[in-house]
Amino acid sequence: MNNIHTPAVDYRLPPDRVPETITENLTDVERTSLIDRISGLLKRENAVVVAHYYTDPDLQRLADETGGYVSDSLDMARFGNESEASTLVVCGVRFMGETAKILNPEKRVLMPDLEATCSLDIGCPADQFSAFCDQYPDRRVVVYANTSAAVKARADWMVTSGSAVDVVRHLQTQGEKLIWAPDMYLGDYVKTQTGADMVLWQGSCIVHEEFKGAELQALKQQHPDAMVLVHPESPASVIQHADLVGSTTAVINAVKEMAAKKFIVATDRGIFYKMRQAAPDKEFIEAPTAGKSATCKSCAHCPWMAMNSLDKLAHALEHGKNEIHVGMDIIERARVPIKRLLDFSRQENQEIYGNNDA
Ligand code: SF4
Repeated sequence: MNNIHTPAVDYRLPPDRVPETITENLTDVERTSLIDRISGLLKRENAVVVAHYYTDPDLQRLADETGGYVSDSLDMARFGNESEASTLVVCGVRFMGETAKILNPEKRVLMPDLEATCSLDIGCPADQFSAFCDQYPDRRVVVYANTSAAVKARADWMVTSGSAVDVVRHLQTQGEKLIWAPDMYLGDYVKTQTGADMVLWQGSCIVHEEFKGAELQALKQQHPDAMVLVHPESPASVIQHADLVGSTTAVINAVKEMAAKKFIVATDRGIFYKMRQAAPDKEFIEAPTAGKSATCKSCAHCPWMAMNSLDKLAHALEHGKNEIHVGMDIIERARVPIKRLLDFSRQENQEIYGNNDA
């Protein structure tokens, strides 16, 4: 029985609302000078850089080399919690800065660019989502990490891509029917894996949505020795060709652990920086976003992640700009679904950190 109740509204972002992907072009001298400046500012401000896997390699390298951290969003927030630094400079997108603030309300959280957001976050406005939830008072509300603090504050559970199937299965055994938001593809994947009764919000990640199943199949035929790694924010037509479906951390671990020497990777190409560190002798190929059915504007690199740059980071740190503020009322409510996930993971003896979201 098909138990997906499709709401009428399509909340996927139209291409004209997707910004161009602009990357920072620096000479070696400019890069070195900026890194020296930032290193000094980090000490002056008692700050650390926490960067997401999808940001520019320069930022990931900077985080690695200055005592910061590179990971997925929940793990970034966890690192921020354990760090003795009083300022966290979050290189990623806005919901990651908000999650860091929710878990570390006493710390200052800065971002290189507050306009750096996410199509899943934009496509799930808190007021509309709350009204949607009100239509299904008998359902528990499960939201993906890629949502605003205000949406998390309306939820019962927050999940990551690494934990979503286990949490939904757990709720299913308790006889719960669910509302899922905002990624319709990840929701569909979780529903397929669990058979749970889920009403799906119709949002999408504009990066993963653009991977193409038919072209991936053709690429796989050209490289029969390659393993295909797919993030579950991708459409089912792409997932069906995967040798492994997993979170960012799971696909990085896979390149270390699998015997294959070649991988076709369907997620943001920013992840290649860590993959090459993890398995320097292996080959990585971008999964296709082009071909006959090409419509992409993002083409395997998130335009909002690309808004983070060394220059903007230096500016934010030097002048204390781009601070994330979240009201205490929202922090207290948003912490509840996040804590449920953390407690669940501890009880299940799962390593939640480093096994998470996009
Ligand atoms: S890659 Fe997709 S899910 Fe991640 S921040 Fe960009 S738009 Fe959002």
